[in-house]
Amino acid sequence: MSDSLERGLEAMRGQMDARVMSYMSTCVHCGICADACLFYTETGDARYTPIYKTEPLRKLWRQEYTFWGKLAASMGLSKKLTEQDLADWEELVYDGCTMCSRCSMVCPVGVDIAYMIRKVKEGLSAAGFSPGDLVEAGKRAVEIGSPMGVTLKTLEATIRAQEKETGLKMPLDVEGADYLCLFSSGEIAGFPEFIGSLAKIFKAGDVSWTISSDYFEATNTGVQLGNSGMAATLVERVVAAAEKLKVKYVISPECGHAYTTLRWDAPNFIGRPLPFKVVHIMELLDELRRDDRLKTEGFTNEKLSYHDPCNAGRRGGVLDQPRKLLNMVAPNFVELPETGAMNWCCGGGGGVSSNERADELRLKVFSAKKRQLDAVNVEGLVTACSNCRHMLEDGLEDNEMYEVELLGITELIADHLAGDGV
Ligand code: SF4
Ligand code: SF4
Repeated sequence: MSDSLERGLEAMRGQMDARVMSYMSTCVHCGICADACLFYTETGDARYTPIYKTEPLRKLWRQEYTFWGKLAASMGLSKKLTEQDLADWEELVYDGCTMCSRCSMVCPVGVDIAYMIRKVKEGLSAAGFSPGDLVEAGKRAVEIGSPMGVTLKTLEATIRAQEKETGLKMPLDVEGADYLCLFSSGEIAGFPEFIGSLAKIFKAGDVSWTISSDYFEATNTGVQLGNSGMAATLVERVVAAAEKLKVKYVISPECGHAYTTLRWDAPNFIGRPLPFKVVHIMELLDELRRDDRLKTEGFTNEKLSYHDPCNAGRRGGVLDQPRKLLNMVAPNFVELPETGAMNWCCGGGGGVSSNERADELRLKVFSAKKRQLDAVNVEGLVTACSNCRHMLEDGLEDNEMYEVELLGITELIADHLAGDGV
């Protein structure tokens, strides 16, 4: 057996927890999950059936963890997993799955398929079968602190530009602040006005907050890659930064998977509870609204809709908050069909948009989002995830849907702050 295969199998054995084993034994092979997955519905390719993407893990479970499977294996009646099997699943799992969890919502016996695909990634990544772009992003995340190579110098330059733009001082390394705000590299590089918008809203709402110069990255490439060791290293950096500044809360910015990773998975990665509470920026803004600390004036006349980021919405439960915020400023708001917890993924989550090899496929499956948008005929689409925003931009452009404007919700709210908030 090759070293690569042995490493992959060992990694998958390490992921074989009670949930995986019960999911494997309860799956009734009904195939219902297929129609929930945009990679299947938009391509018609049966290999993209969600549960099929977990096949390497299922084979291993059957051969090594079940009585009949062990018996069949000992009698040479079943084919062992090969290195080629792992190689064959790389494209299905990394290019053909955004970890959006829509499939997990429809399974009649409650199998969390996305949870298991994440486990398959652990095996593939340990065996060396992960997309090169994602591997490089992981290296940058560990070595530089950002998957896109955004350095502290870049952040400082962005902060200076936003200070000039808003006339507000951005708090850096303020010990004892209540909130530590993280950003995703995609936000710093692509939507820097998010930072200025936060500063305006926080000033108006008298929120005590800071940015850490030690660590400011929200993205956890270890999760996208399926490398729990890397995921733990990156979580530890957030913990160290938060502990150094003695904050009570860490804000996950407009980034879907950053939120679910830090809020739900981080304690398991590092083996202890987090010494702070995690809040998604939508949760915090909605709290400020509820407490009368976020006041807006005026409305946008545009007919707008909202794209729920899969991880924040479906997996993280941040569904009502953005709608309550939009209700403050967008009277012509309409829901997309199949919205909220059943919204269709943008097609670029889970590391897919960082993997150039998957570009053609992610743009093809954008047809699911196009169908939703065609049904409502809106002038603007709002979202709360910078990764979705990048993917939506690509998808709208690819489909020449220039009539749909893309908006970030935090910026939209900041643009309507009462008295401009400053
Ligand atoms: S929907 Fe659930 S039970 Fe049916 S094939 Fe998919 S994972 Fe198995
Ligand atoms: S998590 Fe989303 S993209 Fe992945 S298999 Fe399930 S429905 Fe498809």
